[in-house]
Amino acid sequence: MSTKYSIPYGRQNITDADIAAVTEALQADYLTTGPRVLEFEVKFAEYVGAKYAVAVANGTAALHLCALALGVEKGLRVITTPITFAASANCVRYCGGEVWFADIDPVTLTLDLEKTRALIEAHEPGFFQGIIPVDFAGYPVDLEAFRELADEHGMWIIEDACHAPGGWFTDSKDEKQHCGNGNYADLAIFSFHPVKHIASGEGGMITTNNADLYNDLMQLRTHGITRDPDQLKRESDGGWYMEMQQLGYNYRIPDILCALGISQLSRADEGMERRQEIAKKYDNAFKKLGADAGAGQLSEGAKLLYHGLPSSDRQHAFHLYVIQVEDRKGLYDYFREQGIYAQVHYIPVHTMPYYAELNHYSDIDLSLAENYYAGGLSLPMYPTLTEEEQDFVIDRVKTFLA
Ligand SMILES: *Cc1c(COP(=O)(O)O)cnc(C)c1O
Repeated sequence: MSTKYSIPYGRQNITDADIAAVTEALQADYLTTGPRVLEFEVKFAEYVGAKYAVAVANGTAALHLCALALGVEKGLRVITTPITFAASANCVRYCGGEVWFADIDPVTLTLDLEKTRALIEAHEPGFFQGIIPVDFAGYPVDLEAFRELADEHGMWIIEDACHAPGGWFTDSKDEKQHCGNGNYADLAIFSFHPVKHIASGEGGMITTNNADLYNDLMQLRTHGITRDPDQLKRESDGGWYMEMQQLGYNYRIPDILCALGISQLSRADEGMERRQEIAKKYDNAFKKLGADAGAGQLSEGAKLLYHGLPSSDRQHAFHLYVIQVEDRKGLYDYFREQGIYAQVHYIPVHTMPYYAELNHYSDIDLSLAENYYAGGLSLPMYPTLTEEEQDFVIDRVKTFLA
């Protein structure tokens, strides 16, 4: 079937400058561990306002290393949101820990603070060790509030900020807190998969303000090996000497990919501006259609709800622009006939057979996550989406609803 358009929900934007940067890296001395890795780390840390950054093979490897560095092991329990990519939970399982889920806030679609608190307080002290909140769709979680909760219970926080580079919220001191800046979370992680804001092909980054965690992560990324004279446990045998001090992995990212990441990062602000424009245009169009404004559950008899959530006290990073529709399957199929490839983010993780069978959390009410999933759909959202393409998407929504 031929259609006029072929519009995905997200896609990368590769420029001549990106290609030149990668070509230069290919002709340089190092294909993998080279100077661009550190350059990418330094620039990315600066972009999000964190002290340290560790570049790794992908976002999932970043999560795995975070769980290792924080000591997740068999029998330890971690809480995350069901509305996320499975990797946010899987990292705990890689280390043998248990994953528990708390329900979402139906307005922000992120892990609900009070439900997380209730889950923690329903168990004896020390039952849970960590929380992994996710800045879902690009909505920055209020990490100040999660930090208070975590501190009350001696827990750590990994912020899964894959959707939110460039996002920020305002804390109680009226200070802008950029996603991944490490002021409230112990560790934060990002992905450079092509659908994300900054693409490197495959790639990930961990950010933190904690020097000990940083040093540990640097080792874990390369087999648990160090060559740093200050970190050696034994006396050096000579120039070749290195020590494997713990069981790590090969989760390195090649220099070639960092060249692309650095080039992409230099355009991150432009991309963010364009995402804001696209979101505003969707918001206005759906407002005119009389759709449920703002956010929350799809109300009785309403056909469409949009989740733009513009606000002066935070910057939504708009990795995704999600709507909820009464007839989600109908709109999804109709879109495909029209060459629009919308996606669903996400099938709740706790309903996946793997997690359902593990069943660490059977009596916990996760109905708000399930309700969101029943109608959730992510519309095309990426900086190179043209006005004409977006008009077409909006027009198809109108036609479908009419
Ligand atoms: C993409 C993504 C990941 C995993 O990143 P990869 O680089 O694909 O491994 C983890 N969490 C969230 C929320 C993501 O969107």
